[in-house]
Amino acid sequence: MRIAVIGAGVAGLTTALVMAERGHAVEVFERNPRLGPGSCSWLAGGMLAPWCEMASTEAIIGRLGIQSIAWWRARFPGTVSQGTLVVAPARDVAELNRFAKRTEGFDWLDPAGIAALEPDLAERFGKALYFSDEAHLDPRLALAALAERLTSLGVAIHLGTEVVPEATAGDLVFDCRGLGGRTDMPALRGVRGEMVVIRSHSLKLSRPVRFLHPRLPLYVVPRGEGVFMLGATMLESEAQGPVSVRSMLELLGAAFALHPTLGEAEILEQGAALRPALPDNLPKVERAGRVIRVNGLFRHGFLMAPVMAQIAANVALDPHFNTELCYAHSA
Ligand SMILES: Cc1cc2nc3c(=O)[nH]c(=O)nc-3n(C[C@H](O)[C@H](O)[C@H](O)COP(=O)(O)OP(=O)(O)OC[C@H]3O[C@@H](n4cnc5c(N)ncnc54)[C@H](O)[C@@H]3O)c2cc1C
Repeated sequence: MRIAVIGAGVAGLTTALVMAERGHAVEVFERNPRLGPGSCSWLAGGMLAPWCEMASTEAIIGRLGIQSIAWWRARFPGTVSQGTLVVAPARDVAELNRFAKRTEGFDWLDPAGIAALEPDLAERFGKALYFSDEAHLDPRLALAALAERLTSLGVAIHLGTEVVPEATAGDLVFDCRGLGGRTDMPALRGVRGEMVVIRSHSLKLSRPVRFLHPRLPLYVVPRGEGVFMLGATMLESEAQGPVSVRSMLELLGAAFALHPTLGEAEILEQGAALRPALPDNLPKVERAGRVIRVNGLFRHGFLMAPVMAQIAANVALDPHFNTELCYAHSA
């Protein structure tokens, strides 16, 4: 089949790759002149954290998301499998207990256990949750790696090319436009997420750390060479501007509370993006004639895109494929 994919964020590139790997002739259309900047995917933390996410979302996200880690490992060697550490300030240790009750797949660590994993945090926290099977990746390197694999399979990626599904040639058109797909999915909304990238020459972390502060929840994702992504706000706002003073204060304040040495870190980058979300905050594959929409990835794009791409591919091959059933079976 001749397949067109619109949008080269994580949803579009994973869908294109799944279809190309199944032997179809695929083309990708992206309105931005460069791969990445301007998409929501460019600013993501890159955590593949199905168990941690269960603490704040439907269990289905965790159960489906678990399958994605192996998919990423097989296609992106930069996938880091070091788990996730979750900590809380001593006076808020009840937050850790609450988090633990809402999820699974973790071990409790004492100070010696924390020291074995993250020596720089050893003296700061007396208890932690360790999710050993979680992973993370650098979203920018991952997008580039997907594009490289696509090119090696003969897939053309047309940058700077804005198209609409109904006017796009192909036996099937995958609409992966993120918030740009709102014209055909009016229920989509943008949920603003702000992030900061810093460099610290003194803190060493090997895995994402979630800091459960009741007012300032934070995660820190190591990107190597002392670079850390701090995230992320979740605001019901479609404002497009740079990070606000309040959010910057909150993110940096939480980072300082996690470890005061971060007070000496350099700020390398700040940014905000709108996460494409549906009213139930769950991702969705839907078909309208030859157009298949993959959208609503909300705060789980890297975690969920490989699974959604495979559901989309099944929908493509079988117009009667019941995605509801597929979710239910996976659950
Ligand atoms: C701060 C932050 C942190 C996050 N952290 C994580 C995390 O740790 N783990 C995780 O799994 N998820 C995370 N997310 C969520 C994740 O980034 C999103 O779910 C994901 O990026 C959505 O991907 P997408 O491909 O649907 O949309 P996008 O990445 O926005 O891609 C859509 C693409 O379609 C293009 N497009 C739109 N209209 C057209 C058109 N007409 N023609 C051609 N191209 C078009 C756009 O230019 C864009 O490139 C985070 C998000 C934010 C904001």
